[in-house]
Amino acid sequence: MLNKRTTVYYAASIAEAQTILKNIAGISLCAGCTEIARRQTGRNLHLPAHVLSLSRVPELCTISKTERYIEFGSSVTLSSMLELGKKNLSEVLFEAIQTIANPSIRTLATLGGNIAAKGHRLTTFAPLLALDARLEVRSPTEALWVPMTRHFSNTGKETPVTGEFISKIRVPNDNWDLQIFKRVGRPGVITDSTSSFAFLVKSQKKLLADIRIAWAGKFFFRQREFENLIIGRSLPLSERDIINLMDKSSLFFDPGLFPPSYERSCFFNLLEDSLRLLT
Ligand SMILES: Cc1cc2nc3c(=O)[nH]c(=O)nc-3n(C[C@H](O)[C@H](O)[C@H](O)COP(=O)(O)OP(=O)(O)OC[C@H]3O[C@@H](n4cnc5c(N)ncnc54)[C@H](O)[C@@H]3O)c2cc1C
Repeated sequence: MLNKRTTVYYAASIAEAQTILKNIAGISLCAGCTEIARRQTGRNLHLPAHVLSLSRVPELCTISKTERYIEFGSSVTLSSMLELGKKNLSEVLFEAIQTIANPSIRTLATLGGNIAAKGHRLTTFAPLLALDARLEVRSPTEALWVPMTRHFSNTGKETPVTGEFISKIRVPNDNWDLQIFKRVGRPGVITDSTSSFAFLVKSQKKLLADIRIAWAGKFFFRQREFENLIIGRSLPLSERDIINLMDKSSLFFDPGLFPPSYERSCFFNLLEDSLRLLT
């Protein structure tokens, strides 16, 4: 049940959503409302005075696929993404979604809400970061495509900036030879230590052609400089490579942002385990 002092606006199109955001100062966004509900403990759902629901905007509920990428409207539900099957969705993303909440919640929960949830980065964040997903961000006047690392930061910038919302998520269709998704913390629930880890590898004639390593939880990480240190090495990696890379890895994962903690130890263990799969 909703508290009575809230007005919920339902937009019928993106243009209408933009107009509502422009005209109602301080209006908040919601989609499936499952993350908003998860953060509350009372019997009634407490929402701000004015809320714009994006869940019924048809343009935000579409999925389109081209040879190069798959594009999701931000209100596409997690269950419709799973319905695409592993063949049409990157394995890391598919596996990540399977660990989220339960089937009933996934029919309401949206991809946009999962990415945009404030504070703790949720389960699809690391896979999308590793896959180089781009976001279409709408303000009342324009639509801009930006990489996730530009839209979010570890130092306080939270979406939405006034009147801004994520309208699409574009995920490149690259072929990866190895895709690993791991989750720290119990599947299906969010706790303080919930984090996700994604590791992707592409090889070419016994050379490591590309690697992506991403982490998201209290903080998120993707260090292209560290990945570049690994790219171009011969496969299989040697024991010396592993020792050398693990020695260097801590220099790249700034303890200022990512202080010594259970999560930091988990990250380095997952990194070493994943690199060892390449030996
Ligand atoms: C029992 C339970 C278990 C859960 N387990 C998990 C789990 O294991 N892993 C996990 O990741 N999540 C989990 N969740 C949280 C939630 O279900 C998912 O993260 C879901 O994907 C959030 O999507 P939503 O549409 O419900 O977001 P909402 O709750 O509607 O919104 C979440 C936030 O995103 C903002 N937002 C929504 N859409 C947009 C947009 N298009 N642009 C900008 N901002 C937007 C809203 O303003 C709000 O701040 C769980 C929830 C419950 C209730």
